[in-house]
Amino acid sequence: MTSPATDPAGVPAGSRAFALGLRNRFRGITVREGLLVPGPAGWGEFSPFAEYGPRESSRWWAACWEAAHQGWPAPVRDRVPVNVTVPAVGPERAARIVAAGGCATAKVKVAERGQDPGEDIARVEAVRHALGPSGRVRVDANGGWDADTAVRMVRELDRFDLEYVEQPCAGLDDLALVRRRVDVPVAADESIRKAEDPLRVSAAGAADIVVLKVQPLGGVRAALRVAEACGLPVVVSSAVESSVGLAAGVALAAALPELPYACGLATAQMLTADVTAEPLLPADGFLPVRAVGVDEERLREVEIDAAPWRERAEQARDAGRERSGQG
Ligand SMILES: [Mg+2]
Repeated sequence: MTSPATDPAGVPAGSRAFALGLRNRFRGITVREGLLVPGPAGWGEFSPFAEYGPRESSRWWAACWEAAHQGWPAPVRDRVPVNVTVPAVGPERAARIVAAGGCATAKVKVAERGQDPGEDIARVEAVRHALGPSGRVRVDANGGWDADTAVRMVRELDRFDLEYVEQPCAGLDDLALVRRRVDVPVAADESIRKAEDPLRVSAAGAADIVVLKVQPLGGVRAALRVAEACGLPVVVSSAVESSVGLAAGVALAAALPELPYACGLATAQMLTADVTAEPLLPADGFLPVRAVGVDEERLREVEIDAAPWRERAEQARDAGRERSGQG
């Protein structure tokens, strides 16, 4: 390696890039790539999606740096409840996914392009039946409905007793409109991509709950500040990271003063491989709060050229300095 072994201002030479297969297509991708960065506090993960430029990626870099150099605030709980996610599949398959998941909470994808409302209803009904009356069922439309459709569908689906509806519409105005017209709580997910967004969501009266992810918000501490400032209950979700990145989400969920909802952190099972010998997989609907180490042998199996990733990390770091006025 030609780069210096240690560069306090740069991306450590021991950083390693990985490519993990996805069992199903997610955001149009079938491989999840990222960079693992070693530091005195452990490994950090830097894995912004390919379309994100340096400015947007700078928060992802800050989260990675925090994990590697600072570690995370003390947890107030030693395990974190998680939900099983049911994609837009038929009712029989939905029921099987819920039964296999072992979670008390299920998130059901609805409003899938090309499907009709009857398919959503059949899927949610099957999930409610599989979970039983004590289970919690939330639906996630990923912004796929217009306001009128959202109101109609949420009312219709609420006969299966919905915990909340996630991102029923794309825009804040529509979210606020839907929220005023239905009894089911509304959660904002896609509306939140950076630290200022939860405050906008809250000020617009657009949601009862915010879905927060560590990397886009710039780290666990930054996400805790955002949670406190917006004053709404938080559901912590992943960006489908390796177990190293996922551990940061678990750390956020573990450090929040209140955690009234199961988190969207049971995503290690979406991957065909991991960088650790002990992936963060749920047991009985919970993830343990613990450190995640990198397993050299497993990492080597999924390792890719780190040079392009180091370059992205350096650009993200520089963009972050500009953003925070450190030039
Ligand atoms: Mg969502």
